[in-house]
Amino acid sequence: MKLTNKSKVVSNKKMTFAEKIYLPSIIKGMMITGKHALQGSKGKVYSYPEVHKPRAKVWRGRHVLKRDEQGRERCTACGLCAVACPAEAITMTSAERTKEQKDLYREEKYAETYEINMLRCIFCGMCEEACPKSAIYLTDRLVDVEDSRGGFIYGKDKLVEDMNNRVDITDRQQERQKNTVK
Ligand code: SF4
Ligand code: SF4
Repeated sequence: MKLTNKSKVVSNKKMTFAEKIYLPSIIKGMMITGKHALQGSKGKVYSYPEVHKPRAKVWRGRHVLKRDEQGRERCTACGLCAVACPAEAITMTSAERTKEQKDLYREEKYAETYEINMLRCIFCGMCEEACPKSAIYLTDRLVDVEDSRGGFIYGKDKLVEDMNNRVDITDRQQERQKNTVK
């Protein structure tokens, strides 16, 4: 391979002994570490897990399947979120609502099972954009640590909103959703 004039100059440049043992880079790195250490609590240091780093309002964490104001599940198992998901992380089965279940599900069809594989999910938010029922949103909550792969398959027990601990998603709602979905 033919070397250009420029690369010849670089390759011919003699390195000093200090450069050979990476001394300038090591000193530079130590100075950055020292600066952050001296900043202490005034700097951006958080005593996790007691103190969590504040996240942006639109930060994309684990999902929630929302309920409406009357506590009924919003999801109608239409499958649009699963189709939109680039990671093929969402699966569900649908069922027909009975008369006795009117207080549980908002529409005639509902998700009997609904699962998200958190190991596949890339937290892109396409599912919440695709949902016509304002049923699924990403939240500021983290996915828990698990000791088996199966633990990362989140079912309705983990996804459906707890009415005693509601999730505010107003910052994530698109104008379209705010205006059309009650
Ligand atoms: S956030 Fe993206 S990858 Fe994760 S389930 Fe939704 S659409 Fe799929
Ligand atoms: S979460 Fe929304 S898009 Fe997905 S199945 Fe339920 S209603 Fe349809």
